[in-house]
Amino acid sequence: MSTICAISTAQAVGGISLIRLSGDKAIAIADEIFVSFDGKRVKDMQGHTCKYGKIVVNGNVLDDVLLTVFIAPKSYTGEDTVEISCHGGLYVSKRVLRACIDHGAEPAAAGEFTKRAFLNGKLSLTEAEGVADIISAQGESTLKSAHLMHEGELYKSVRRVCDRLVNILGSLAAWTDYPDEDIPETDDESLLVTLEGCETSLKKILADYDSGRIFREGIDTAIVGKPNVGKSTLMNALLGYERSIVTSVAGTTRDIVEESVRLGDVILRLSDTAGIHESQDEVESIGVDLAKKKIDSAELILCVLDGSRELDDDDRELLKSIENRRHIVLVNKSDLPLKINKEYILDGNILYVSAKERDGLENLRRMVFDLFKLSGYDSSPAVFANERQKLCCERALKHVKFAHNALLAGLTLDAVTIDIDEAANALLELTGEKATEAVVDDVFSRFCVGK
Ligand code: GDP
Repeated sequence: MSTICAISTAQAVGGISLIRLSGDKAIAIADEIFVSFDGKRVKDMQGHTCKYGKIVVNGNVLDDVLLTVFIAPKSYTGEDTVEISCHGGLYVSKRVLRACIDHGAEPAAAGEFTKRAFLNGKLSLTEAEGVADIISAQGESTLKSAHLMHEGELYKSVRRVCDRLVNILGSLAAWTDYPDEDIPETDDESLLVTLEGCETSLKKILADYDSGRIFREGIDTAIVGKPNVGKSTLMNALLGYERSIVTSVAGTTRDIVEESVRLGDVILRLSDTAGIHESQDEVESIGVDLAKKKIDSAELILCVLDGSRELDDDDRELLKSIENRRHIVLVNKSDLPLKINKEYILDGNILYVSAKERDGLENLRRMVFDLFKLSGYDSSPAVFANERQKLCCERALKHVKFAHNALLAGLTLDAVTIDIDEAANALLELTGEKATEAVVDDVFSRFCVGK
């Protein structure tokens, strides 16, 4: 395989820049451009040792650097690797990179170092995806679950299920392929118990995925309500600054304004929609249509009512339209005398707030956590990094269920075997042990260059 190189630190001015070389010729290339201050050659260095020296090209000193050597297989990629720490200017680091390329290295593609680590058996595919997540982590929970992914938690949970399935396959195959041997027949009862166990584990992994996804991506939230109930003020209160246009003229939020707000560890992706009411104004009715669509697609609806007025038909219609959606009713303007007729709000998720005074909003976090069952969630269980892994897990679950039903329906063990085989394959694809080249390429294309 070729020797690759890249600047592994951010492409910006900083204190230090790190240029990484990996492959068979990494040490030879470094040896040609590096002159250590103690006269020792790179090719004579031990693995995991470091030397101070300079990069010299055509007799010109480019920079004073620290050079670290890792000898295969004890390196990140599993190949001979050299890391050169030079001064952080972009010009300097690009010249050092250029020197590596001129001496025979090839520029690395996105994620190529990690891809090589995967191909050399240093990481499973899920661990590699954990690396990508650590790089892009936005909050403490995301970082924690990314670390667990990187440390193989997901891999271990999936592997346990997979091992059980492979185990069944082994005994079924042994029994059908070698009828003359004295292999005990797999009894349906224990097969059922194992399949049920696998089903429970896969469901648990998928449930954790949902919580993990919420921590990672945030909750798509729509703020809805009639004009003038205080939606924009509420959004601004949550964001902590003026964003939507707030006026006392009804119907001034014409478009959807989108922002993210952090509630503890969870991010609400908020959109403040035009007030839902029948509008004659053409421009505004476009906003109203958008708001209705938003109600259909949002994961959480914050329905704002004006507590200082009685509910009218528009409010009641709105309450009805969100009845079956995950929602919280915010009775706003609690700083004014309460006139709202509460009997129409039957549901338990009600908060009395004053968006203007920023009062009562502290309970919103607890309510969101309860609604999404996040309170008991800690990011220690297996959490999926992405949609790819979730789809593999869903496919495995589907086939485990098929196998289970086939067994209950008294179908032949051959039919059951096909589905167990499919389920095991889906899980092996998840961990990367049976992933196609296209899947592997797709995973690593999401990385940055230098990782
Ligand atoms: P929207 O049309 O639903 O976005 O409503 P706005 O946020 O534009 O607010 C409409 C009016 O209600 C403005 O004059 C706000 O100052 C006022 N308002 C909003 N929230 C409160 C509140 O909690 N208490 C009081 N007293 N007035 C509020």
